[in-house]
Amino acid sequence: MRFPFSREINMRTQIVAGNWKMNNDLAQTQALISDLKKQVQTSNAEVMIAPAFTNLYSAFEALRHTNIEVVAQNMHFAESGAYTGEVSAKMLQSIGIKTVILGHSERRAYFGETDELLAKKVDAALANNMRIIFCFGEELADRKSGNHESVVESQIKKALFHLEYSAFNNIILAYEPVWAIGTGETASPEQAQEMHAFIRKTLADKYGEEVANSVSILYGGSVKPANAKEIFSNPDVDGGLIGGAALNAEDFFAIVNAFNRI
Ligand code: PEP
Repeated sequence: MRFPFSREINMRTQIVAGNWKMNNDLAQTQALISDLKKQVQTSNAEVMIAPAFTNLYSAFEALRHTNIEVVAQNMHFAESGAYTGEVSAKMLQSIGIKTVILGHSERRAYFGETDELLAKKVDAALANNMRIIFCFGEELADRKSGNHESVVESQIKKALFHLEYSAFNNIILAYEPVWAIGTGETASPEQAQEMHAFIRKTLADKYGEEVANSVSILYGGSVKPANAKEIFSNPDVDGGLIGGAALNAEDFFAIVNAFNRI
């Protein structure tokens, strides 16, 4: 019975966040939100969705008095200036957005985001009092060669370990093995638990047990209604970052509700 007991002591939040990626235009966003509103019910988990930039304000307004938080998928580190095509923390805040996803593997792979760049984005988000869902995870080759823990440790250290311990009040971690994102392949519950425990130990070694136990660590990678409960039942898995299954209101809430049955 380690799981419910440790959760009471640590009080870390359970979170299910839907990353919509570059899907859904304005009308589709409004339709999916209307479907989500029909499904909303009391949940043990905090619920978030991350629509595209163009639809953030409309989504925020539509969900203003609900318990679904609208979050951004990315931001630039600068306050303003000559950064064509980019969006700043202040711009996000000006439309009510308080949380941003940083370091998603697609940003790292397709847009060249490095650990060093991500450290700057992390600093900018925190300087603007934003909460961060910080993503990281190993590639298949790292897993196969047995380097998965050292890769993850290095990603966390390079982007986050310059921070004061108090910064971790505003940081949610999302472990997303790249080989499991959008592939239909999921880390086994054992693989997820093993890595989440390793991440928590890495945090504890630097910042102490109290900080490590207070940080929510989400799992991401082909989470579906059919596997959510098994993954979320692990003691160090505090929720999920959901891609494909977040684009369907029924599936998304089936995943959210997996917490209610644990
Ligand atoms: C993601 O994009 O963060 C993700 C986990 O995607 P999927 O659930 O589709 O694997």
